[in-house]
Amino acid sequence: MTIPFVDLAGQYQELRDEMMHAVDTVMTKANFILGNQVDEFENAFAEYCGAKYCVGVANGTDAIEMALRAHDIGPGDEVITSANTFMATAIAIAKVGAEAVFVDVAAVDANIDVNLIAEAVSPRTKAIIPVHLYGQTAEMDVLVEFANDNNLVLIEDAAQAHGAECGELRAGSFGNAGCFSFYPGKNLGAYGDGGAVVTNDEKIAERLRMIRNYGQRQKNVFEELGYNCRLDTMQAAILQVKLPHLERWTEARRSRAKEYNQLLASSGLVLPTELAERRHVYHLYVVQHPERDALISHLQSRDIQVGIHYPTPVPHTPPFAGSKCVPAELPIATALAKRILSLPMCPQLTTEQVKVVAGAVCEYTGGVVGELTPVNGVASNGAANNAAASPELSSEATS
Ligand SMILES: *Cc1c(COP(=O)(O)O)cnc(C)c1O
Repeated sequence: MTIPFVDLAGQYQELRDEMMHAVDTVMTKANFILGNQVDEFENAFAEYCGAKYCVGVANGTDAIEMALRAHDIGPGDEVITSANTFMATAIAIAKVGAEAVFVDVAAVDANIDVNLIAEAVSPRTKAIIPVHLYGQTAEMDVLVEFANDNNLVLIEDAAQAHGAECGELRAGSFGNAGCFSFYPGKNLGAYGDGGAVVTNDEKIAERLRMIRNYGQRQKNVFEELGYNCRLDTMQAAILQVKLPHLERWTEARRSRAKEYNQLLASSGLVLPTELAERRHVYHLYVVQHPERDALISHLQSRDIQVGIHYPTPVPHTPPFAGSKCVPAELPIATALAKRILSLPMCPQLTTEQVKVVAGAVCEYTGGVVGELTPVNGVASNGAANNAAASPELSSEATS
């Protein structure tokens, strides 16, 4: 039996009746573009994020691009972001004509290293885009203060972090704008492409509504050069069905992550670290092993699907070769890219499947499969295991 990396078909079966009804309603009303479901979903998602406004767009990449445009960031400007992210973050920066400046990540959470961001600032720096990678927010208290002190626009790439928290606040609500993707495999996924920008700034929300709709303030009143990048009514209706389930799904992800942490505590893998004051939503459960490629082959031979997020730091890909990097060699991002693998993780994953994965990992590493503590027991978060298992990525390498 294959253990899938994500199980979208299984999720559909949970929701089938509700989903058929929602989709039928859109087709019956034929309100395919900017129908009432878009508005309704936007309001619900803004509230979920703890933000005042939400503007649905066509996908997560557009969300970042339009957030940059709404803040007039373009040619001649520099935008600081993380070296370890999905290509789309950097593509959005390039698409507005700005230049991405890539900062290395912290070994502990693979998010932008806030100790390095000051070095990345130049007189041309206009914005900073931290990425809440794998479902855990970047160090937002530091980043908010830094953006304020340096007069920078702060745009969160929260494409992997629906419902993630840092302190009291949710991903997307810290900065000037928070960008989400509803790509099918994301924690909240459409049945096709979708995205959204959330913001507390009314003027920015208004401008985003124009920009996504050909630059129209109202029908045939074109105020600025706009784009066609709206969220479909159909996708909004699908997302309306899914949003009420998101908290339950997130808790399922967190439970499976705890089980992985316990079962893999003595496996020889470096496990994800959940930092203090964070709610990690485990979009991905990313572990490290020095023989990553051989371990992946072994897991695949046992019908376990795995991934690598991501095998190449963005500035080491051809489209971004020669970009400014801080520090130039990106030692942590480069080392992580060779060691990381993502184990199966989705709300439909079962404890039994987690045990099979842990067994197959230990079969390869020679480690011992750990014990699951009873449901109300105190779970280890895997942090204690990390320093010993990852000598070359110890805290010394980051500080
Ligand atoms: C998925 C993703 C995006 C892009 O979202 P799309 O909807 O695929 O355009 C951007 N940034 C990160 C970190 C992502 O994971």
